[in-house]
Amino acid sequence: MAEPKEKGELLPQDVGSDDCLTSYTHVYSPDLLKDQVAFITGGGSGIGLRIAEIFMRHGCDTVIASRNLDKLKEAAKKLSAATGRRCLPLCIDVRQPESITAAVDETLRELGRIDILINNAAGNFLCPATSLSFNAFKTVMEIDTMGTFNTSKVVYEKWFQNHGGNIVNISATLGYKGQALQVHAGSAKAANDAMTKHLAVEWGPSGVRVNTLAPGPISGTEGFRRLGGPRGEAAGAFQSIPLQRAGNKTEMAHSVLFLASRASSYVTGAILIADGGSWLTSANDVSMLLGHWSAEKKRDK
Ligand code: NAP
Repeated sequence: MAEPKEKGELLPQDVGSDDCLTSYTHVYSPDLLKDQVAFITGGGSGIGLRIAEIFMRHGCDTVIASRNLDKLKEAAKKLSAATGRRCLPLCIDVRQPESITAAVDETLRELGRIDILINNAAGNFLCPATSLSFNAFKTVMEIDTMGTFNTSKVVYEKWFQNHGGNIVNISATLGYKGQALQVHAGSAKAANDAMTKHLAVEWGPSGVRVNTLAPGPISGTEGFRRLGGPRGEAAGAFQSIPLQRAGNKTEMAHSVLFLASRASSYVTGAILIADGGSWLTSANDVSMLLGHWSAEKKRDK
């Protein structure tokens, strides 16, 4: 399949499902992560799966860790078949530190090291604040924010403290303008952006860099589907953003690869926004989003 061309710039190829790419052209040196090990939370689907694939195509072995072990096993099989590298599927819930500790111990037993941690696991949905239960808000904070802290702390104490390493958190731009119907995820990601800086300051002397990637709307993901991306795309909503299109998962993986590799060796505490300029110009229209939310709710019934 030819790579899509977008006004003068070649876009990296992507597929919309949770499958591996059918072909891939390296942008970076293919041995950029040679023999490194990356621990990727939520690596069995969406952006996390593509990050795992692109890392493996650069010589890295990976651990993909989340709650659904069957899904992870299937993803690990596809990833290894496509790249020839090892991929270890491990069951964790980022809200439960003991499950993370067990998975990190197993990673060190099986793969011997951890060079990179990607905090990608998250939960999200559209919901107006008045309809959001106390428990729903708490759950998103627990997965997105506490989960990022829990995983970072376990990996730091078990390996990075004595060996150095790279942490990349996957954030969002929701809090920048107070995106309607997203108080839960926007608040959780804003806390993570602060955490990126705090941990960069405290752990820099141990040789640990901590950075964040903030994606915009990314096609072929559960987030995109749940947040009304396909319908927005069909209605021409992306025409108002500077790059006039949604991003793809491979583009996100390339930005994460930059932050997680020696290509960014003097970068820490940074937040790289990869959203085609979306947050600068896209609408924050409460009534339009409320309309979309009520329509989706009716459809769910
Ligand atoms: P996704 O496919 O739903 O990925 C989320 C992953 O997190 C899933 O693999 C899920 O696996 C895992 N997860 C959820 N709860 C967990 C828990 N308690 N413990 C461990 N793992 C858990 O969604 P995505 O759209 O690719 O999103 C990936 C990241 O990008 C998220 O941080 C999201 O906020 C961010 N982002 C996405 C977009 C977008 O347009 N898609 C835009 C901005 C930011 P299990 O169900 O197996 O646990």
